[in-house]
Amino acid sequence: MKNYDISHGADRDCSPDTQPALPPLRRSWGEKPLPPADVHEAGTPPLRRSWGEKPYYSLDYYLREQFGEKVYRLSLNGGCTCPNRDGRLDTRGCIFCDRGGSGDFAASPSLSITEQIEASKAQVAAKRSCRKFIAYFQAYTNTYGPLKKLRSMFFEAIRHPDIVVLSIATRPDCLPDEVLNLLSELQQIKPVWVELGLQTIHAATSRFIRSGFTLDCFHEAVLKLQRLHIPVIAHVILGLPGETQAQMLQTVDYLGQLGIDGVKLQLLHVLTDTDLYDYYRAHPFPLLTQEEYCDLVIQCIEQLPPGTVIHRLTGDGPGKLLAGPLWSRNKRQVLNQIHRTMKERGSYQGKQYSGPSGRRRTAIRHPDSDNDTQATRRRQRFQGGDSHGRSFDTI
Ligand code: SF4
Repeated sequence: MKNYDISHGADRDCSPDTQPALPPLRRSWGEKPLPPADVHEAGTPPLRRSWGEKPYYSLDYYLREQFGEKVYRLSLNGGCTCPNRDGRLDTRGCIFCDRGGSGDFAASPSLSITEQIEASKAQVAAKRSCRKFIAYFQAYTNTYGPLKKLRSMFFEAIRHPDIVVLSIATRPDCLPDEVLNLLSELQQIKPVWVELGLQTIHAATSRFIRSGFTLDCFHEAVLKLQRLHIPVIAHVILGLPGETQAQMLQTVDYLGQLGIDGVKLQLLHVLTDTDLYDYYRAHPFPLLTQEEYCDLVIQCIEQLPPGTVIHRLTGDGPGKLLAGPLWSRNKRQVLNQIHRTMKERGSYQGKQYSGPSGRRRTAIRHPDSDNDTQATRRRQRFQGGDSHGRSFDTI
């Protein structure tokens, strides 16, 4: 991603004495160097209106740029749990999370990592030919566990000859220094991505979904990963109960200003195996229609910087558990509507983005900070908090 730049993160508001030592910067792991950054300075129109056939920077396009061919994701299960499930923070999990820990497509944890990779590769090979893969640790919180175990499973995955990227889904409050050092070590072998489930920047919604971490915690985690040149992909849920369209766009705008490397936009799915389903039955709230969702996604795309890779525009919820919105089962139809409408409107990624291309030149302020004093106070509270961010805003 274009934010693999020596200056990336260097201008951020971070206390230098809390930062791990930077590894030597690496600009390529395969045949191709990283693409040049888009030129999109504030006040000038974006220069780029299409990435291949699409009017946005899709993950598929990015991977073809990097590896010269299609790359498939293999969902792996490292057998981790989650502090929001094992009682350390909560036992109920996030309100939308099903018992599979949002890893319904991952392989069985009873298999070794190599066995999981081979089994998943065989499934992909049955449908199409592919030689390069992303090892995606998806289920639960994949940096939450004994360091020795994490080290063993990540090294086993990254050393597999067909794996070209290691992608790790986790929580921002589960990235202690020893894990960051491990990620940095892995990053010297092949690219490592970290996926963080932010979902929303709004504290009231975050409390409602029981995320268990604060925006401060997320913000600091992103800054630390950026300092290590580790790309961060943020997950955002559109359609959370009580959130207005403007609030959802604020979340996306925040991520753009933060210089996030990638985003996954996900429609809120109500799954029968979740507390959200019980809440929905007791207090029915409006679910987004297909038209509303497509319109909202297009606004999000227009608001994102041209250099942010879009990893997902819809959701991949398990069909058998889906209680609503049922229209989302037809993913192809949703994507077609988004693409068709973007074409009709002359829409493209970054059309409404007014900042520099995916990179802030000045310190980033929290969107809910009233003034600098408040921002400073929040940072001080963060530095005094525990590794789970529980001493800050109550969530
Ligand atoms: S952090 Fe992830 S795995 Fe844990 S409860 Fe929330 S969605 Fe589920």
